[in-house]
Amino acid sequence: MAPLRSLWLEEALAHEDVDEQRLEEKTRADVCIVGGGYTGLWTAIRIKELEPSADVVVVEADICGGGPSGRNGGFALSWWSKIDTLVKRAGETEALRLAQAAEAAIAEIGDFCAREGIDAQFQQDGWLWTATSAAQVGGWNGAIETAARLGAQPFELVEPKELRERTGCAAHVAGLFDRSAAKVHPGFLARGLRRAAAARDVRIYEGSPMLELDRDHGVVRTPAGSVEADAVVLALNAWALQVPELRRAIVAVSSDMIATAPIPEKLAASGWTGGECVSNSRLMVHYYRTTRDGRVAFGRGGGRIAFRARVNENFDYNERQTRELKEELTQLVPAAAGVPITHAWGGPIDRSRDGLPIFGSLPGRGRIVYATGFSGNGVAPSLTAGKLLASSALRRDDEWSSSALNSGVSARFPPEPIRFVGGLSYAPPCAERKSGRTSVSTSIRSRCGSRRWRPPASSGSPAAGSGLQTSRPKRGNRFRTNRLKRARYSSALSSSRVWA
Ligand SMILES: Cc1cc2nc3c(=O)[nH]c(=O)nc-3n(C[C@H](O)[C@H](O)[C@H](O)COP(=O)(O)OP(=O)(O)OC[C@H]3O[C@@H](n4cnc5c(N)ncnc54)[C@H](O)[C@@H]3O)c2cc1C
Repeated sequence: MAPLRSLWLEEALAHEDVDEQRLEEKTRADVCIVGGGYTGLWTAIRIKELEPSADVVVVEADICGGGPSGRNGGFALSWWSKIDTLVKRAGETEALRLAQAAEAAIAEIGDFCAREGIDAQFQQDGWLWTATSAAQVGGWNGAIETAARLGAQPFELVEPKELRERTGCAAHVAGLFDRSAAKVHPGFLARGLRRAAAARDVRIYEGSPMLELDRDHGVVRTPAGSVEADAVVLALNAWALQVPELRRAIVAVSSDMIATAPIPEKLAASGWTGGECVSNSRLMVHYYRTTRDGRVAFGRGGGRIAFRARVNENFDYNERQTRELKEELTQLVPAAAGVPITHAWGGPIDRSRDGLPIFGSLPGRGRIVYATGFSGNGVAPSLTAGKLLASSALRRDDEWSSSALNSGVSARFPPEPIRFVGGLSYAPPCAERKSGRTSVSTSIRSRCGSRRWRPPASSGSPAAGSGLQTSRPKRGNRFRTNRLKRARYSSALSSSRVWA
């Protein structure tokens, strides 16, 4: 069966002859990158920038951009909304440097696309971070205060009247504007990065899932071949759950999207003409944007949770979530009332405990480095991640490899089945309960995906279904459940929003 593709990937693939090459030999490389999404591709491009003669291979289970990089909302955001967490993780000085770098990464994407002739429809029209209920108002205060303490002012307050006019919707009761944010066409960006990497002589093998990783010898094995490399980069997003050491570092939750038919006149009449990305402040956040041809792309984060490491086809599309999204769309984008929905899709989010990505290296004699845990904010941060991973893979001693972010897993989720059950039964935070929009029981039903849903027996992803083996040294590190730990788990889920 042909894989379900997002609107974005469908559009991008219509513009190219997909020239997919599988890995069908034993080969050698300086660096082997596993995963051909934004993270893997930015890493490959960065390595070639630092060391043009390096031999770099990308091994991708599907096609490049087949994962969330070709399915996301296209919000290119900085880390300013996560500045509190960044300070906790890295300290004030490094947090400020990283937040500034993450902001600069947005413009860097635009510049890169312009230089490389990638029409990723990059538009730096900003982001409206809104509240759609009284209880959500002020969810941004911590970020504003911390940024101000560090001497930064990334957000502007928007008066409610102006907010309603700019979004064409009275549901937005308060909000901030971040003018550094941009939107992109995710499919054209992912496929454009693939072209840019290939043009730099990066060897790209698609349809070639890693089945086994020999950590001691740096060998990545696929169904019909293998790559032996001085360094291996794991850029696997939620599929990093297949790596034993990362299994409790992230939880895979779904994010779902729908897109309407083009309605440029209705959008113009509604007043939402500035091109801003818009989101609210729920835990299961709504996010919405317009497209160049006047569609509305509307999504919601945090729908379903993966049992164990299984990211299955329930993450690619889910009927219940799609139905709910259609209902919610017109509450937040009234201009879309009665408009046909032409596309619906979903994808996994690699949620970390604190909402920031995790970088590190795996034990073993080989050099195996990884990034995961973007928590639904990876479009722009993946460029910064590429810098960090490239420096680590090349064993360079610089501000990226020595960043406090590059220090492995510091906080873990409980093991299964506690993680799964805890995630399902987790009560939505006050903000959502007071708004009367999500009860605990509806949250459980909705996060199970459908009444017939069962923990999947096998995964729909070629990667996850492959039973990836990564030969980890055994550890007797068992999680002991007690009330305190359960409380910490709940607060981790509510402490920052799942972005997408
Ligand atoms: C519906 C949705 C909406 C989102 N909206 C936004 C947004 O608006 N803004 C934002 O910043 N972020 C958003 N995100 C998150 C964002 O898409 C990701 O953080 C980002 O794309 C991560 O890029 P990546 O390269 O790390 O992961 P991916 O794009 O998932 O790449 C990982 C790749 O690894 C491959 N793979 C897996 N296992 C194997 C294996 N064993 N062997 C080889 N290859 C393997 C997969 O096929 C995949 O292509 C959204 C995500 C989703 C699902």
